[in-house]
Amino acid sequence: MARTPLIAGNWKLNLDHLEATHTVQKLAWLLRDAKHDFSEVEVAVLPSFTSLRSVQTLVDADQLELKYGAQDISAHVSGAYTGEVSGTQLSKLGVSYVAVGHSERRQYHGETDEVVATKTQAAFEHGIVPIVCVGEGLDIRKAGEHVSYTLAQVDGALKDLPADKAKDVVIAYEPVWAIGTGEVATPADAQEVCAAIRGRLAELYDQELADGVRVLYGGSVKSSSIAQLMAEEDVDGGLVGGASLDPEEFSKIARFK
Ligand code: PEP
Repeated sequence: MARTPLIAGNWKLNLDHLEATHTVQKLAWLLRDAKHDFSEVEVAVLPSFTSLRSVQTLVDADQLELKYGAQDISAHVSGAYTGEVSGTQLSKLGVSYVAVGHSERRQYHGETDEVVATKTQAAFEHGIVPIVCVGEGLDIRKAGEHVSYTLAQVDGALKDLPADKAKDVVIAYEPVWAIGTGEVATPADAQEVCAAIRGRLAELYDQELADGVRVLYGGSVKSSSIAQLMAEEDVDGGLVGGASLDPEEFSKIARFK
């Protein structure tokens, strides 16, 4: 089954709303100049919450085909949850995607598989596609347990998720040892785990559903490494951190073909 590749830029805690606007404008110009075909490769950016309204205005005003999303979503709908941002609020801002369970949220904010599952459900309830992040740390890779560890995270994130939602989920395999370290996984490493994730989706649901789900790789992706990663059968795109802050570099990654 043909899967449309997705290149998504996770800006993390970088860029104020003016810088975000400027970056989106520059990225849009570069992709327009390169006659980028968004139906062939989808491109999305995930700015901070504070920039989403500005990005929405720009995308709407210039009728950009660029998608945008958030880096997190509250597990709650409304109420006494200071500092949280809900799916209702995000969907009003026109976001297409939300990253869920990024390793930095698991590590620094104590997000468990249960929380990730609730946030995954919350995203779907508001018409937002979750990009569910999974992946092992260095100790687990060294112990050779990276596949079983990552698949357990997939099981946790998708717990009780019905097939009519799961068919649209995006999963990002992001080995923690590769995030922000400059140490990109080899294409074979990425393929091994992305294929295992697809295999698990087939077990949890069915092969047809598994064949339609996009599985991304993330971890120090650059324009020099993306083409080889994308040549792997089960790698359907990239979740890009540091390199997505530079519009020139990110536009090259999006035009990996
Ligand atoms: C990320 O934050 O999801 C990521 C993959 O970061 P980087 O590309 O900088 O390793």
